[in-house]
Amino acid sequence: MSRGPVWHPFTQHALQPDAIEIARAEGAWLERPDGSRILDAISSWWVISHGHRHPRIIGAIKAQADQLDQVIFAGFTHRPAEELAARLSQRIGLPHVFFSDSGSTAVEVALKMALGYWRNQGLNRTRIIAFEHAYHGDTIGTMSAGARGVFNAPYEPLLFDVIRLPFPTKGKEHETLTTLRAATADGQAAALIVEPLILGAGGMLTYSPQVLADMARICAETKTLFIADEVMTGFGRTGTFLACEQAGITPDILCLAKGITGGSMPLAVTLANAAIYEAHYSQDRRKTFFHSSSYTANPIACASALANLDVWDEEPVQARIMQIADWQRELSEGLRSDPRFTDVRRCGTIAAFDLKVADEGYLASIGPKLYDFFLSRGLLLRPLGNTIYIMPPYCITRDELVSLYDAIRAAADTFGARA
Ligand SMILES: *Cc1c(COP(=O)(O)O)cnc(C)c1O
Repeated sequence: MSRGPVWHPFTQHALQPDAIEIARAEGAWLERPDGSRILDAISSWWVISHGHRHPRIIGAIKAQADQLDQVIFAGFTHRPAEELAARLSQRIGLPHVFFSDSGSTAVEVALKMALGYWRNQGLNRTRIIAFEHAYHGDTIGTMSAGARGVFNAPYEPLLFDVIRLPFPTKGKEHETLTTLRAATADGQAAALIVEPLILGAGGMLTYSPQVLADMARICAETKTLFIADEVMTGFGRTGTFLACEQAGITPDILCLAKGITGGSMPLAVTLANAAIYEAHYSQDRRKTFFHSSSYTANPIACASALANLDVWDEEPVQARIMQIADWQRELSEGLRSDPRFTDVRRCGTIAAFDLKVADEGYLASIGPKLYDFFLSRGLLLRPLGNTIYIMPPYCITRDELVSLYDAIRAAADTFGARA
């Protein structure tokens, strides 16, 4: 890639080809300036829900831009934020909504709320518990909660320690629960943070709703706050509006971002239960929740999120999600009997499988080769090392999904270890 003014994310400019310019997008497709198209099979990094430029969401953005672009959110408020907070709170069952602008900040806010909750009660509970392989964002705090590895090695001296739970692989769930019981037994842990049902960046690793429910129960018994990071899983990815619904639980703190605006605008929220809000509600100014970012609750972003909720309420989104889940089940089943793939797994609209190769892991040379192979066929898939996953927008058709599976088989013909 040539040296230019733009420094791209997660990009080794010395090795990768020039970034691909996209001029337009519609539905599940990205379009280059020359008119050629690319199928967006990872929802533009997990954010696009219903497809690019959903008319209702784009209409709301245009209408809001004509009324109020931005206003300070301390001491001031506006209808889009008030209405969005009320609707999210009602839908999810958590009474308070704090706005921010990315998944990482939503998680930072969650961790700060948890620490403030204990400190404002005069208790010294600061221990955070998290999964191995977890991913919660790229800021120092969220990297601390996330797994250690090549992504954060340079910053490791600044990361705080957390207690790690072994991932609840099928058949090994009791190890996870035993470790959680031990880490919370003294009643001194501040919070457990988890990605419910599926760990995204950690390799699309899935676990059962039962384990999620068991972890929530252990937290409740030891008064450890339960933080659900639904930044990726929220808004239908796992087959339900929230992944937590499948375990029948409501967390103490919930983080949402990516799909909150249907993928149209940067916005995030952290929802909290009454006790956490009350612990910060005080005549003592020192108990204030001291967090803000300049664009907190940007009105245009809030308007796009309201339009997204309208789409959820008034269009058959749930039916589309179930349809995609069915297609993913049917098509991924076909790979189960193919010895070149292992660990074929699904969670709602997401399917993932590992291609058997000689060198595995995120930095394995196979990752970029697969990415280029798919792109050359007009498909945007971005494997995590040798893990290939499909996380489509909900407007994808069966034919489009079939073309993805065909390309994945062709990739195995080209790169897979001979079975
Ligand atoms: C993407 C992601 C984040 C970080 O969100 P950003 O908007 O990229 O900061 C946090 N948690 C999970 C589970 C994610 O998938």
